[in-house]
Amino acid sequence: MRELALIEQIRRDFAPLSSRAVSLGIGDDCAIVRPPPGSEVLVTTDFTLEGRHFRRDLHLPESVGHRCLARGLSDVAAMGATPLTAFLSLALPVEMVATAKGRAWTKGFFKGLQALARRHKITLAGGDTAQAPSDIILADIVLLGTAPVGRSLRRSGAHAGDAIYVTGSLGGSATELAAMLARNRRSARIGDIRNHPQSFPEPRVAVGQALLRRGLATACIDLSDGLSTDLAHLCRASSLAAEIEEATIPLHSLTRKLDPPIALKAALHGGEDYELLFAAPASARVPRQLGGVRITRIGRFVRRQTRSPLVMLLGADGSRATLEPQGWEHFSGR
Ligand code: ADP
Ligand code: MG
Repeated sequence: MRELALIEQIRRDFAPLSSRAVSLGIGDDCAIVRPPPGSEVLVTTDFTLEGRHFRRDLHLPESVGHRCLARGLSDVAAMGATPLTAFLSLALPVEMVATAKGRAWTKGFFKGLQALARRHKITLAGGDTAQAPSDIILADIVLLGTAPVGRSLRRSGAHAGDAIYVTGSLGGSATELAAMLARNRRSARIGDIRNHPQSFPEPRVAVGQALLRRGLATACIDLSDGLSTDLAHLCRASSLAAEIEEATIPLHSLTRKLDPPIALKAALHGGEDYELLFAAPASARVPRQLGGVRITRIGRFVRRQTRSPLVMLLGADGSRATLEPQGWEHFSGR
């Protein structure tokens, strides 16, 4: 019964966001979605697990809802696609629906998720709700996106000689998280979202769309696990190696306040920045900004030699070091 009341609440909360693409939303056995003619549908799914991806004592419920949807939106952005709609499966401990405190948490979660959904003009078209068999919260988001048939950006399209670019800045999420862990309490209330790259990361949907529309990128990936780890994924998918110039890596304003070696570590391995990394031919005219977001060239792809490292880091002093994938394992790992 309580579960039904929650679903009814979700339906009412998300009804105002209903989009043309969703011809039947929450309330029936299935949703019906109608992708625009000439497009294909992209699908991604991501878990948000308490204790692994967030801590109830550290993250605001609004932040957990925001990040849950942001994970899916960032994957859609990485393909250059346009978000279509989302589905959410939730397993909640009994107290989250049975107690006032729990219901307040759930309300905050949906508030955060809804605010981000509104900004990206999508709604929740369905999901599932169950009582968790434990005392942890588990949420699984499914995002549908659309792109013109055959045009999506993949990890596998980069060529030797292509330049490597990143959007925005790196290290902010890890820096905010480290501060949260040091204080062992929640980050302050929202304020300027740019000061909360861990709590309220901004998925780069508009940048991904612009890259696809302008045909600028040969390959793309979102930086969810950290530059060192995600760049290695792209290298493997494109059968290439990469060289990164340390001095060019754009650091988040929070990260720039740290000791340089710690700042560099946050930017290289921190993860959860949800920026995009993409490849473009060296001759391509890539603008300094796309959709209001700064674009920075940080290196280039080179031919892969057998047994040589996937990613090299070039220091300002001319040094060359292997960059091992060391994407951060927050809390108990990911
Ligand atoms: P069924 O038992 O047929 O799967 P449910 O009772 O689980 O149906 O769900 C009823 C409706 O509510 C469906 O449209 C479903 O997609 C939607 N729904 C259930 N849980 C959620 C949720 N967490 N978020 C969004 N929609 C949900
Ligand atoms: Mg059914």
